[in-house]
Amino acid sequence: MMSGKLLIAQKDASRLAELLKNYFGFDRFLSLQEEIVGHVLTGQDALVLMPTGGGKSLCYQLPALVFDGLTLVVSPLIALMKDQVDGLKANGVAAELINSSLTGEEISRIKAALTCGEVKLLYIAPERLATDGFRSFLRGLKIKCIAVDEAHCISQWGHDFRPDYLNLKNLRDDFPEAGMVALTATATLRVRRDIIEHLRLKKSRTFLSSFNRPNLHYDIVPKDNAFKELLEILRSPRHKDRASIIYCFSRKDTEGLAEDLRARGLKAEAYHAGLEAQERHAIQDRFIKDETPIITATIAFGMGIDKSDIRLVAHYALPSSIEGYYQETGRAGRDGLEARCVLFYSYADRFKQEYFINQIEDESERQRVTDKLNRMVAFCEGFGCRRKYLLEYFGENYEKTNCGHCDRCVRPKEEFDADEIGRTILECVRATGSRFGGQYIVDILRGSRSERILKLRHDQLSCYGQARLPDGQGKIFGESQMREIIGLIIEKGLLVKTAGEYPVIELTSDGQEFLKGQERLILPQLRAVSKDLTKKSLDRMDENGGFDERLFEELRRLRKQLADERGVPPFVIFADTALRQMARDLPIDSQSFLRVAGVGNQKLKAFGPVFIQKIADYCSEHSLVPGGGGSAVGLNRPSSPRTAKTMTHEETKKLLAQKFSLETIAESRGFVAGTILSHLEKLTDEDPGIDIEHLRPPEPRYDLIKAAFEHCGGLALSPVKAMLGDDFSYDELRLVRIFLKK
Ligand SMILES: [Zn+2]
Repeated sequence: MMSGKLLIAQKDASRLAELLKNYFGFDRFLSLQEEIVGHVLTGQDALVLMPTGGGKSLCYQLPALVFDGLTLVVSPLIALMKDQVDGLKANGVAAELINSSLTGEEISRIKAALTCGEVKLLYIAPERLATDGFRSFLRGLKIKCIAVDEAHCISQWGHDFRPDYLNLKNLRDDFPEAGMVALTATATLRVRRDIIEHLRLKKSRTFLSSFNRPNLHYDIVPKDNAFKELLEILRSPRHKDRASIIYCFSRKDTEGLAEDLRARGLKAEAYHAGLEAQERHAIQDRFIKDETPIITATIAFGMGIDKSDIRLVAHYALPSSIEGYYQETGRAGRDGLEARCVLFYSYADRFKQEYFINQIEDESERQRVTDKLNRMVAFCEGFGCRRKYLLEYFGENYEKTNCGHCDRCVRPKEEFDADEIGRTILECVRATGSRFGGQYIVDILRGSRSERILKLRHDQLSCYGQARLPDGQGKIFGESQMREIIGLIIEKGLLVKTAGEYPVIELTSDGQEFLKGQERLILPQLRAVSKDLTKKSLDRMDENGGFDERLFEELRRLRKQLADERGVPPFVIFADTALRQMARDLPIDSQSFLRVAGVGNQKLKAFGPVFIQKIADYCSEHSLVPGGGGSAVGLNRPSSPRTAKTMTHEETKKLLAQKFSLETIAESRGFVAGTILSHLEKLTDEDPGIDIEHLRPPEPRYDLIKAAFEHCGGLALSPVKAMLGDDFSYDELRLVRIFLKK
């Protein structure tokens, strides 16, 4: 079969180049575009898979100019449709759209123009194809080509199935002669098959452009003090006042987060499907015009937006599928410049998602959604290159072993001797018969007194409570550290996690062999540990200063220069946190330089001398005393607003009877909420019948916390807090516990 390229004769090629320049302003085609255009021009079908920003629409827009007839474009996004048509018109292309946003009069005008053959491209929404009247109108037109945008919406296996897309199944009957082009930015093999089958693409060619987005940096960080970390990112010079989208779990979360960010002086607005269309539009508009740089959003945001300079896409909650994650992060850096994608991952988020999935009644649907989530979790918990995982998920091979642009590849490969803890874990799995989930194993090893453990007498095991840190002081590994270690051991193949709704951890035959042998278990350094170190050094700093800002700027310039010389991004040299620490501690010898977080021997050797020189010069210029381990800036914590007042439970009881909220009672009495909760605990102990129903947290938060208590066994707060993380305060857990006890 001849390729599209060969089919374009020389004079046609120059004609296409002319059209490309005249109508779209480009001097040359992007990868694959020319080949696809050539293929589409032959009137044959095609499936085009291209990442966002790869120039998909040109693949049918350019041929539309050549065809002697109409190109029909089906697109699900009304806002985007309008932008595209406006853009085409501005370029002098005869394009129109018909959707629900138009008046009857406007539609009649466009129909007339279509009938006269004055229109080259017509955009419609899929639901329009459901009406017989419109279909028969279309059949009367000379349609040469049909382009189906966001074609993955036709598959129930995609992450974005739209029932309206099933209307497209009839297109082939209505227009047997027209060439059909299906386009999408994300599709797994299964979805690809669905597209070809449902649209009945004939002898189609699939054009697969690489899904790699080399300018995106992927970071997955433990969701632990996430707000502080997010603030730090948003305030960093790289992201300050630059377009950022932060995806949240719920509408309420988007509003809460936007409010918190505004309280810290950042310009942020929340966007979700619950807002009036007009308001949504205004918010979107302010974002596009750079008036509001930060949008906190549910996944509803971004669909109809074509903003090329988004520098940060953060996931403040776990996405439910890789497809969704890829599409959302794909909105960053469409201009090809460097952009960052940060995902805050916590076990709690996963638990939350699983909780909601378990509410799905249809079993096959539940299984499908579970599978998607499991792949997402595997992506977050995996230890290999993030990019490689993403690309392989979409069926693409990635040969490199280090992409240089993800947390896994950039992070120094430190290791730690995990022999003792590793063997203890393997022993525990063996002793309990490979029948339990990871959390339960963690609970045993950390010495939990949960009901289940006591009932099964697992507190009698020799490994019970033996998750000791190798510090000789008998300290116990933290929850998240333990989960990480188990993940690493799974990665090593000594343990395996079964599939399905209730996965358990099993010992593999390699694991059994390992237990018998003498080999030591070495694992990559734990994230939690390396993060703690960074955090500690950050905590020592005053949040808004404590370092010399001018020196910091000079060091940044130096870093940039070194980075440019090496053709790497600046953070590969040193992180901002390291530069700040340098600008605060003023190290001017190797030893103090090594104390900077993120400086190892390798970096000391490579960059130590130049940075030390710069710092020393700066110190002598500004008469600073170098190497002094930090300035004398102290943390001025506001003292607790608590004032001494006589506390009587009776007073609280009276206010409760008047149905005041916890916060109002606390405020009016000058106490913190925790004190009122203590009153509440006392009061409900004395009189379980007391009416506190108005304090019950809303579903699903209540149900979720309840489920977490049940999961952990017992009524202890800290395991539940560890499980649910940042999003739930101790106070809220305590409140739910009061209801559970009643
Ligand atoms: Zn990588």
